[in-house]
Amino acid sequence: MGFFGALCIIVLGKLTNTNKVADESSLAKEFLGKLFLIVGPSGSGKGTVISELKRRFPGFVYPISYTTREIREGESDGEVYHFVERGEFEKMIEAGEFLEYAVVHEDNYYGTSKEDILVPLRKGAVVVREVDIQGFYSIKDLVPAENLVSIFMKVSDREDLKGRILRRGEISDDELERRLDSARKEIAQAGSCDYQVENKWGEIKKCVNAVEKIIVEEIKDLY
Ligand code: 5GP
Repeated sequence: MGFFGALCIIVLGKLTNTNKVADESSLAKEFLGKLFLIVGPSGSGKGTVISELKRRFPGFVYPISYTTREIREGESDGEVYHFVERGEFEKMIEAGEFLEYAVVHEDNYYGTSKEDILVPLRKGAVVVREVDIQGFYSIKDLVPAENLVSIFMKVSDREDLKGRILRRGEISDDELERRLDSARKEIAQAGSCDYQVENKWGEIKKCVNAVEKIIVEEIKDLY
C-alpha cells in the first residue's frame, strides 16, 4: 500500500472514530445526573434510609411520588407522597404525567412524575427515590444504564419484616398478608438490582453507611 492508501485508512479511521464519539456523547448528554432507586419490600427501611440521606446530602433531589393510599399517622402531604384521589391519579395517567406508575400490593396506585425525575436528571442532579420492583423495571427501560443505580434493601427474615410492617401503624390482617406476599415476590427479584444492602434490625446506621458508600463511589465521576 502506498502513502496515499495509508493516509486514506488513517483519515477514514479518524472519521469513524469521531462519528462514534459524537453519537455516544450526544446520547450521554441527555442526562447528566444519576438516579438512585431504593428498592425492597415494604418495611425494609427504604424510607428511613432516605430520611437519613436527606440529612447527610441536602443537595440531592428527593422527588415526591403520588399515591392513592390513605395517609398514615405521622405522615404529611407533600413530604414523601402527594396523597391524591383515584380519579385525580387516573387523570394524571391520561395526561402522560408519570414516568412510571404501578398498582402496589394489589391495592393502590403509586407513581413518579416525569418532570420531577427527568428534569433534575437532565441538569446533572443526583436524584434519590424509593419505588417498588415494578417501578424499578419500568424506569430501567427508560433511563440509560449509566445514569441509573438500583439498591435493593434486604431484611433477614419474614418474621423481622412482619414486625417492621406492624410497627409502622395499624393495618388490617388482609393488608398485612398482601404486603408480605408482595415482599416474597420482591425478594425473589433482588438479584436484578445493581447492589443489595442488608438492613438488620437495630443496625440502620450501618445500612445507611453502606448505601452512602455506594452513592459516593457512583457519583465520583459525575462532576
Ligand atoms: P408504602 O405504602 O409502604 O409507603 O409504599 C408501598 C410500596 O410502594 C413501597 O414498596 C414503596 O417503595 C412503593 N412506592 C413508593 N413510591 C412509589 C412510586 O412512585 N412508584 C412505585 N412504583 N412504587 C412506589
